[in-house]
Amino acid sequence: MFDANRTLVNSIENLNDEQKEYLYSALNIHGHACGGMPMGYVAGLAAMKALGMDSRERNMDTIAVVYAGNGHAAGCFVDGVQFSTGCTFGKGIMKKEAKGKWQFMLIQKKTGKAVKARIRNEILDKAFSAPFITEYRARGVNPADIPEEIAGPGFTRLFGLPPEDVVEIEGPFTVDVPGARPCFNRVSCSVCGATVAENYICLEDGKPVCRDCTHYAG
Ligand SMILES: [Zn+2]
Ligand SMILES: [Zn+2]
Repeated sequence: MFDANRTLVNSIENLNDEQKEYLYSALNIHGHACGGMPMGYVAGLAAMKALGMDSRERNMDTIAVVYAGNGHAAGCFVDGVQFSTGCTFGKGIMKKEAKGKWQFMLIQKKTGKAVKARIRNEILDKAFSAPFITEYRARGVNPADIPEEIAGPGFTRLFGLPPEDVVEIEGPFTVDVPGARPCFNRVSCSVCGATVAENYICLEDGKPVCRDCTHYAG
């Protein structure tokens, strides 16, 4: 798989060695060649450029809020945004507001400076009318089982286009930054005994209770 991924990435002519290395890593982590991950990947790069970022987020200073939902072939897009921006789910700087859109907002925490990125309709039209979707995914074939001669061109295609033909950028503008500063306090749930971050604890009859044990909704 790694050799095939290397060959596929190396076939993209207009990327330099460093860009190829990042994309190769992204493809390995994503797990299969498809058209969706590159969409998010290219959009992430365009949003970073619009914010004046010269490298992907390595700490926790940038947040990506993605507007893709679930169950509508957009998970790959979200992975692409994560890999190019470095705004990863685990670091808590990738948030999902499920709206069923191939869009996201990239926000600098310190300043609230933000841009919105959306994949152009023509790009989505082309991707969804390609055999990758119509002949394989829509018929229940898993992405990794789709022949490389079908999946490969879908993966490489966007890198041959000017980014502005792929993604539309709105902004920069200033927004309220989501997410408070981190909580370092731990509390034991009075029902199950789990150690829980204090900002996730509810109080019931004055006793700390975790979200699994609370009787309240939400
Ligand atoms: Zn994918
Ligand atoms: Zn509990």
